[in-house]
Amino acid sequence: MAKFLFFIGLVALVFWTLGAKGRAARKPAPPPQPPAPPPQPQAMVSCAQCGLHLPSAEALPGRGGMFCSAAHRQAYEAAQAGG
Ligand SMILES: [Zn+2]
Repeated sequence: MAKFLFFIGLVALVFWTLGAKGRAARKPAPPPQPPAPPPQPQAMVSCAQCGLHLPSAEALPGRGGMFCSAAHRQAYEAAQAGG
C-alpha cells in the first residue's frame, strides 16, 4: 500500500511538472509592436526661384517667398532688386 501511494505521488509529481512546463510553453507571446505611425504631414512649399517643391521645414524664407536654397533666394532677390 505504501508503494502504491508512492507511485501515485510520483505520477502526480510528473503530471504537475509536465503541466507547469505546458503552462510555461503556452504562455501567450507579447503582442507585436504596432507599426510606427506615419510621419506628420508637412506643408509643402515651392521654391520661388525654380519651383522645386520641398517641406516648409527645409525651405528658406526670403523676401519673395520660400526658396530651396540660399543661392536661389539670393538669385531671386537680386533679380527683384534689379527690376
Ligand atoms: Zn530653387
